[in-house]
Amino acid sequence: MSNQNIRVRFAPSPTGPLHIGGVRTALYNFLFARQHGGKFILRIEDTDQTRFVAGARDYIIESFKWCGIEFDEGVTKGGDYGPYTQSERKEIYKQYAQQLINSGNAYYAFDTPEALASKRTEFEAEKRTFTYDAAERLNMSNSLSLPKEEVDKLLSDGVPYVIRYKMPENEVVVMNDLIRGKVEVNTSVLDDKILFKSDGMPTYHLANIVDDHLMKISHVIRGEEWLPSLPLHVLLYRAFGWEEPQFAHLPLLLKPDGHGKLSKRDGDRLGFPVFPLQWKDPKTGELSRGYREDGYFPEAFVNMLALLGWNPGDERELFSMEELIEAFRIERVNKSGAKFDAEKAKWFNHQYLIKKTNEELADAFTPLLLEKGILADKEFVVKVVDLVKERATFVADLWDQSSFFFTRPDSYDAKAVKKRWKTASYDQMTELKDILANIEPFTSDHTEEVVKKWIEEKEYGMGAVMNAFRLLVVGALKGPHLFDIIAMLGQEETLERIALGLQELGRKE
Ligand code: GLU
Repeated sequence: MSNQNIRVRFAPSPTGPLHIGGVRTALYNFLFARQHGGKFILRIEDTDQTRFVAGARDYIIESFKWCGIEFDEGVTKGGDYGPYTQSERKEIYKQYAQQLINSGNAYYAFDTPEALASKRTEFEAEKRTFTYDAAERLNMSNSLSLPKEEVDKLLSDGVPYVIRYKMPENEVVVMNDLIRGKVEVNTSVLDDKILFKSDGMPTYHLANIVDDHLMKISHVIRGEEWLPSLPLHVLLYRAFGWEEPQFAHLPLLLKPDGHGKLSKRDGDRLGFPVFPLQWKDPKTGELSRGYREDGYFPEAFVNMLALLGWNPGDERELFSMEELIEAFRIERVNKSGAKFDAEKAKWFNHQYLIKKTNEELADAFTPLLLEKGILADKEFVVKVVDLVKERATFVADLWDQSSFFFTRPDSYDAKAVKKRWKTASYDQMTELKDILANIEPFTSDHTEEVVKKWIEEKEYGMGAVMNAFRLLVVGALKGPHLFDIIAMLGQEETLERIALGLQELGRKE
């Protein structure tokens, strides 16, 4: 198959915000298309109007934009195989359902919802489960069980019907999956799925097959939850006499403990987002957090997702989108589920944070400083960021790690005071203040040399003096190298902070 013939699609149903598992499916499709020079298509599968949620489609498009996943054809973009929204293709599907009836692969079923419900109750009473299948279909009301004249009459009277696939009896369907290899299923465990509904809409199964065929999709890469539908899909291709695409079913994203599928509730319970962007439920107004709003870099998010279920076969972990396009292999996608790891997600963000230049980080940090009412010199912010970025996971962490560069302590960490503000501290810090007042130049190296020499000569404990000193300057026992901090603050500010601290903490008796 030549590269231009590689056509893959992401085909979400707009029923709510896109779960990160869905983003990963889209990402793998995109990577696959790009590395083969093929096309990536976005198709919206909205045939189930009862589950339609306003805003879901635009949410998907915005998520793609944020992640850098570009589609070549599809909704809002157009292409030669449109429209790309199934509700706008309504007219297309009926003829294909009809084609299957004509070839004896499908049939009309007139069973009312009440009749189906009572059948189910009847079965339940006998501790059995009702399935509309080869064993039961002749006991139901359909064009296989009823005489032809009656069927014609029901149809001409406009009695509501659905069209069901006539599942062959006791046949072994052999399928191939690019990740799982050969998959075999006996049709006796499968039911007669509805292909066309009484509301004039196709079901997912029919619309999906017809569209994949008409849109010349070469590879169907989708979540594992669709694997049970694969035999039906393959049988439909064969019933139509169409060439099947190749299939790849991706492993599930699992809860951090590996027990079950990762859900929104896990995110709420364990404190991480399961959606790329924040989502506000249009009905309830409920807000769900998103990676973007939580402060993740899109590159970090994409990198993390790519490695959930795939690995390059070596130790590499950091990949740009370009590198992913290069390295991704569908055959290297794991068969078993991928455990989500929130700490690893943070690790990726930290890696991308420290890879940014200090200028880029300063630009990202500046709006946050402005929010706090701090108008700082860019050069100063660049230096601060350089000193603290190793300790930050998110841009917002830069504030926690560096606030003391911009504001004086308004309190002193009580625990640290209790432990580190000793009886001798007051006099030692008073002495230190005089020493610092006379240091010239007030650089990090020079102040360090002078202060350390003084500590040694006086035989004061290094730890005791440095902790007390840090407490007065920072307000807590945190932050980078203290002499770097005071050099940045300058002599005057350092002396004032010491004076202020002495006043606040006083002499410990
Ligand atoms: N509409 C289906 C979904 O929402 C598409 C499944 C497929 O890719 O075939 O996931």
